[in-house]
Amino acid sequence: MIAAATPRLAKFAVSAERHDAVFIGVGMGAIPGIGLAGEDQPGVWDALEFIAALKSGEAAVQQAVAGAAVAVIGGGNTSIDVVTQAARAGAAKTWLLYRRGPKEMSAYAHELELARQHGTELLCYATPTRVLGPALGSGRAARVRGLEYSHRGPTAQGSGAESAAAVLAADLVVRATGQKGAGLTPQLPIKTQNGVVQVDQWGRTSDPRYYAGGDCTSGGQEVVHAVRDGKRAAVAIVRDILLPRAGAAHHQQGETGERTGDSADARGGR
Ligand SMILES: Cc1cc2nc3c(=O)[nH]c(=O)nc-3n(C[C@H](O)[C@H](O)[C@H](O)COP(=O)(O)OP(=O)(O)OC[C@H]3O[C@@H](n4cnc5c(N)ncnc54)[C@H](O)[C@@H]3O)c2cc1C
Repeated sequence: MIAAATPRLAKFAVSAERHDAVFIGVGMGAIPGIGLAGEDQPGVWDALEFIAALKSGEAAVQQAVAGAAVAVIGGGNTSIDVVTQAARAGAAKTWLLYRRGPKEMSAYAHELELARQHGTELLCYATPTRVLGPALGSGRAARVRGLEYSHRGPTAQGSGAESAAAVLAADLVVRATGQKGAGLTPQLPIKTQNGVVQVDQWGRTSDPRYYAGGDCTSGGQEVVHAVRDGKRAAVAIVRDILLPRAGAAHHQQGETGERTGDSADARGGR
């Protein structure tokens, strides 16, 4: 059943059959759509794809970013990476649109400061409502025609909040609204919660054949945590599977040795 889902899953299923333990370190999945009108057109990016394309020096995306106005949706560290990378790649303007207030942003304060140093304009209480198209150009070099959003702010009387619609002259729109959770794991026989694999402190999942670590178990931390998880799971695999097996083999060898001894004695004519 698993094998039918995707070729990658087939490999995992085969692994579990042929191996005593499988370590899952698939990270978090892509950033899903947010239901924004017009988000399916070229010129609208998943933050991770955008960063990867820029860092790998992809010509089409560099062409799209140079001199462009880039609107980034989100309030975490990934959104900061996008605005700083875009600015370094020659974007003329970058905005960060966040639906709540600055205190609620999950980005570290020093990361936000870095974004500001790169000229980013922070728009809080801003909810994107529509990407304007049709896109100009095609594929990964395409640009959109703007981003409509609603902005909530205090009323003139200083109380409550009122909404106003506005349009940003954005050429590119980037979603940095959080990864979904590894797409693979719900189809394996292990417990997950909101797409995050449930493990104990040694990386043991709910199925004794599977161990896991890194972002797919934490929901997203840093490289150092993923490395630590891999080491812990390796220790657990040795303790849970290899040592008991070595002990059993040793025990069996001992028994065989005794029998050999017996027969040697017998051969010795005692
Ligand atoms: C934009 C951004 C910036 C970051 N910056 C930093 C930073 O500066 N410093 C820092 O320490 N951390 C940073 N992090 C966090 C860091 O990248 C992660 O914590 C770390 O990479 C997690 O490691 P991992 O091995 O769990 O997952 P990943 O590094 O995501 O690796 C998972 C791998 O599994 C592969 N994979 C997925 N599904 C399958 C499958 N079905 N079969 C086979 N392979 C599969 C993926 O292609 C990927 O190669 C950043 C994260 C983001 C999103």
